[in-house]
Amino acid sequence: MEQITFITPSDTEENLNINTEKALPLLSVIVPCYNEEEVLPIFMESMLPIEKSLESSADFPCRTEILFVDDGSGDSTIEVLRSFTEKYENVKYISFSKNFGKEAAILAGLKNIEGDFCVLLDADLQHPPALIPEMWQKLNSGGYDSVAMYRNNRKKEGFFRRHFSSFFFRLLNKLSKLNIVNGATDFRMMNRMMIDAVLSLPESNRFSKGIFCWVGFNTLWMPFETAERPAGKSKWSSGKLVSYSFDAILSFSETPLKICSWIGIIFCLVSFLLGIYHLVKTIIFGDPVAGFPTLYLMMLLMGGIVLLFLGIIGQYLARIYLEIKQRPPYIIKEKK
Ligand code: UDP
Ligand code: MG
Repeated sequence: MEQITFITPSDTEENLNINTEKALPLLSVIVPCYNEEEVLPIFMESMLPIEKSLESSADFPCRTEILFVDDGSGDSTIEVLRSFTEKYENVKYISFSKNFGKEAAILAGLKNIEGDFCVLLDADLQHPPALIPEMWQKLNSGGYDSVAMYRNNRKKEGFFRRHFSSFFFRLLNKLSKLNIVNGATDFRMMNRMMIDAVLSLPESNRFSKGIFCWVGFNTLWMPFETAERPAGKSKWSSGKLVSYSFDAILSFSETPLKICSWIGIIFCLVSFLLGIYHLVKTIIFGDPVAGFPTLYLMMLLMGGIVLLFLGIIGQYLARIYLEIKQRPPYIIKEKK
């Protein structure tokens, strides 16, 4: 005889609960970490109330997961992350075999989340987690694909950083077709459509701020004040920042190559005209050997310019070479 199962009201309620929980969208929090053992426990502490408030949000409730990307730290970051996964169900981590840089960590993060949405933020609390609920609210209520944060407290930064950074953003926007807001950071929330678009760019030498801008979509820019680091120290020296800026310009603009060609053309024209001038002058007036200093100064100048331009072409060539080798941008050693 066929067995009949009765569904009690409490069963239905339980099923309903499961269903509503499943229906909640998942927000993945991606956190690149490089030698952040001191600050990670503070970070986790400040994330807990945020997770609760997101889950109980009246308008747009969501579940959260946190993915830490250990970028080959030399301290005990990985042990701290292991302890997090034992303690919290919604925490995952990826650990690289060596330091591949923050850009690689961001890429690994985006590739390894399951969320319908993601938010990228630094481990050092300089991107305050307390702003996540507001970003989430704005993203959902305004129908945006992305909410991107830019620093508006540049005065607190050192003289070099402040001026170099705003010069860099202006130069990059001029040389490329991008329109990145001055003070833009990697602190950003995106929906799945935009995440997939970002991941569809196969390049391994990545400048994320440029990529986020390049893929388009509807982005809301919000100002925020960067907080002080509660512990640990910044991994960016002035030299690293300068080389990062060169990388950014070279990966988003061909203008330096065009400038080389134009200057080359101008120099050819000038030398051609000078040649005619000297020829005419010699025929009409006859000319003793003079202008030796002009000669060697011109040779030095031309030599310098040729070498500089070869260097610029070389930089592009090196990037093509690296892309063509198709090396992975990072190698994962441990994952949970
Ligand atoms: N970071 C990383 N790999 C690196 C350097 C930095 O994953 O090679 C992470 C770091 O742990 C932090 C974030 O990127 O979470 C920002 O780094 P940092 O605070 O040193 O930069 P700053 O705030 O000074 O620009
Ligand atoms: Mg920082």
